[in-house]
Amino acid sequence: MNQVEGEKILDILEETFPDARPELVASNPFEMLIATILSAQCTDVRVNKVTEGLFKDCPSPQDFLDLGQEKLEEKIRSCGFYKNKAKNILGACEILVADYDSKVPETIEDLMSLPGVGKKTANVVASTCFGVDAIAVDTHVFRTSNRLGLAKAKTVEETERQLQEILPKNRWTKAHHLLIFLGRRICASRKPKCEICPLQDHCRYYQNTN
Ligand code: SF4
Repeated sequence: MNQVEGEKILDILEETFPDARPELVASNPFEMLIATILSAQCTDVRVNKVTEGLFKDCPSPQDFLDLGQEKLEEKIRSCGFYKNKAKNILGACEILVADYDSKVPETIEDLMSLPGVGKKTANVVASTCFGVDAIAVDTHVFRTSNRLGLAKAKTVEETERQLQEILPKNRWTKAHHLLIFLGRRICASRKPKCEICPLQDHCRYYQNTN
């Protein structure tokens, strides 16, 4: 696939999903950081339910530290992997308080130095909160971009690299949201709804299976 077709796919997705945006509810970078850590292996709907009360009780990193591991585990239990997530959140909060004046760092590199923050989480926070151009590759972006042919890769790292090559930098962040919307609403993992998909003419998977 070439860059022209890659951009055409984004144009169609923009028309199809004019309201594509982050679905995690967060009113500042700190909340987005915590919500994104919680969202691993969990739905955004579930995370939003949990964070609604959590952010009221704990608006700052110090509030999380004061809450402690056990009580935090209780509050986030329904998000899954709660022991590990609580440990990572508290580890991250400790660093934010000690090294960043309780603020969230703005670069992908600094974000990745926090416990529980991998490339995907760092990309999400940096792009949605600080305007850094980035394509976070989650399960939906990985699946849809490889089905479409925007990427042809076996790993998320390689997929991110190939998407960066084929898509213009100023569209990376939007592409992330658009591909997630496509994956959630049409290009489902088990049964993609190709019959209603506006990308049939551009999709390698569709062309190879029809
Ligand atoms: S045509 Fe089918 S496989 Fe291709 S992007 Fe659309 S839903 Fe997914």
